[in-house]
Amino acid sequence: QSQEFSQAHIDYHVALQALQEHGTHMVCTGKMHTDRICRFDYLCYCSEADEFIFFHSNSSVMLPNLGSRRFQPALLDLSSVEDHNTQYFNFLELPAAALKFMPKPVFVPDVTLIFNRFNPDNLMHVFHDDLLPVFYTMKQYSDLDDEARLVFMEGWGEGPHFDLYRLLSSKQPLLKEQLRNFGKLMCFTKSYIGLSKMTTWYQYGFVQPQGPKANILVSGNEIRQFARSLMEKMNITTVEEAEKDGGSAENEKEKDKKDDYVVVFSRSTTRLILNEAELIMALAQELQMRVVTVSLEEQSFPSIVQVISGASILVSMHGAQLITSLFLPRGATVVELFPFAVNPEQYTPYKTLASLPGMDLHYISWRNMKEENTITHPDRPWEQGGIVHLEKEEQERILASKDVPRHLCCRNPEWLFRIYQDTLVDIPSLLEVLLEARKTKANFKKSKPASTVHPGRVREPQCQTSVQTRNEAKLTVSWQIPWNLKYLKVREVKYEVWIQEQGENTYMPYILPQQNYTFSENIKPFTTYLVWVRCIFNKNLLGPFADVLMCKT
Ligand code: UDP
Repeated sequence: QSQEFSQAHIDYHVALQALQEHGTHMVCTGKMHTDRICRFDYLCYCSEADEFIFFHSNSSVMLPNLGSRRFQPALLDLSSVEDHNTQYFNFLELPAAALKFMPKPVFVPDVTLIFNRFNPDNLMHVFHDDLLPVFYTMKQYSDLDDEARLVFMEGWGEGPHFDLYRLLSSKQPLLKEQLRNFGKLMCFTKSYIGLSKMTTWYQYGFVQPQGPKANILVSGNEIRQFARSLMEKMNITTVEEAEKDGGSAENEKEKDKKDDYVVVFSRSTTRLILNEAELIMALAQELQMRVVTVSLEEQSFPSIVQVISGASILVSMHGAQLITSLFLPRGATVVELFPFAVNPEQYTPYKTLASLPGMDLHYISWRNMKEENTITHPDRPWEQGGIVHLEKEEQERILASKDVPRHLCCRNPEWLFRIYQDTLVDIPSLLEVLLEARKTKANFKKSKPASTVHPGRVREPQCQTSVQTRNEAKLTVSWQIPWNLKYLKVREVKYEVWIQEQGENTYMPYILPQQNYTFSENIKPFTTYLVWVRCIFNKNLLGPFADVLMCKT
C-alpha cells in the first residue's frame, strides 16, 4: 500500500511558503489541559524525533499562550481518559527559519483529527474512550466531516476492532508507525488535537476506585444517535425502521411478539459460563422465548449488532462485550452476571450506561453466591488472574476472601483472580431475579422515548399580601404558565413554590396543581418573604425558577 499524500492537490510551493512565512497557528478551547481541544494550521510532526513541532514566525499564534505552564503537566489530554499521565500532549518549538536546514516537509492536505486510542484491544474501551468521543468531537467541528483523516498516536497496531474506527470517516485512519513512511517531516495543513470527554460516563479507577463519572453530560439520546449512525454505516436495519417502511401495525405487533428473543453473549476463552447450554434451555423454557447466542470469537461484529438490535433481553458475564447493549432497542433488559466474590455495585460501566436518562433500558445484575460453583485459575499469568507468583500468605488471604475489597485500577491481584473465574450459573437464583424484574417492570417490551422537553420559567409571578390580625396574615402568589407549555402536550403540569422568611436559612416547599395559591399557615404579619416559583412537567422535568419575589405582609 503506497503511503503518499498526493502533493499535487495542494500547491506545494504555496504551502511551503505559508509555513515559512506564517509558521504554525494554534487556537484552543478549554481552560485546563483536561478540557482542551486545539486546532492548528501547519502543525508538523518529525518522525525521527517523535515530536510535534510548532514553528514560530512573526505571524504565528499560540492561544492559550501558557509559557512554561504548558508543561504543567501538559497542553492537553490526547485520549478521552482524564488526566492520565501516559496520554499527555505537547509540542516542541522551533523558529520557522530552521526549516531551511530541515528535510523537505510533506504536507497532509486532509483535515486531520489526532488523538490516542486508550485501549484498542478492549471493546468497551473502543466504544467508550474512542468511538463515541471521536464521533462527537467530529460533530463539534464542522470541517471534521466524512473526509476527515484520523491519526492514532498511541503507537499500537491496528488491533482487533480497526474496522469500527474505519466507520468514522471515509479515509483510512493512520497509525503512528505509518507516519514515518511519509518522510521525516510531515506538516498537517489543518488539524485538531484532543478528544471531547463530553460523552464518557465512567472512570476506570486510576485515582479513586472505579465508578460512574461525577458529572455525566451525556444522555441516552446521544448514545442512541451514535448507535444509529454506526448501524447505518454497517448496513444494519432495525425492526423499528422496517416498521416505518410498511406493514400494518397489527401485523408488526404480531410479528414482534413471535420475535421476542433473548441473546446470550458468550465468552469462549475467559470468564466462562460453564453451563451455558443448560442456561439457554432454562431461559427458553421459563421465559417462553427464543434464545440466541453470540460471541466475538465466532461472528462478525455487524452480525452481532444485527442480532442485539432486535433483542428483548441481553444476558452476559461482566465484560467488555456488554458495551454492545448500546445497540439494544428501547425497553430491552440487560442481565449482567458477576463471578463469585465480585460485588456488582462496584463495577458499573454497563449499569451506568443502561441507566442514562433516555437510554430506556432495564438493568439487572446477578452474582454467583456459591463458592462451590466457581472455578478459579491460580496458575495462570498474573494478568489473567493468576496468583501463584504471590507470597503464600497473600495467596491464602485471597483464597479465603469472599468479597473483593474496593481497589484501584489495574493490577490488583485479588480483583484479577476473582474477575477471571469461570462460573457454573445457579439457574434457579438467576431465574428468580429475572422473573422478579419482569413482574416489577410489568413488561419487557419496547417503549416509546419519554419526553425530555423542560418547562420554561413561569411568567408574571406576583404576590399580594394582607394582614388579618395581630398574628395572622395571608400571602397570595400567582403566575402565568411557561411560554412553551401552550405548544406541548404534557401529561402532568405542576408548580413548585418555595417560601423563605427573609433572614432565615430554611424554606418551605409546596407542590401545587394550579397557578395561584393563598398561603395563610405560618405566614406572619409585618414580615418579608422571599418566594420562588417553578414549573414541573411529568414529576421530574424541572423548569428554572422565576426571579425571586419579595413579599411584605
Ligand atoms: N473477550 C472475548 N472473549 C473472551 C474473553 C475476552 O471476546 O473469552 C474480549 C472482550 O470482550 C474484550 C477483550 O476480549 O473486548 C478483552 O477482554 P478482557 O477480559 O481483557 O476485558 P474485559 O472483558 O474484562 O473488559
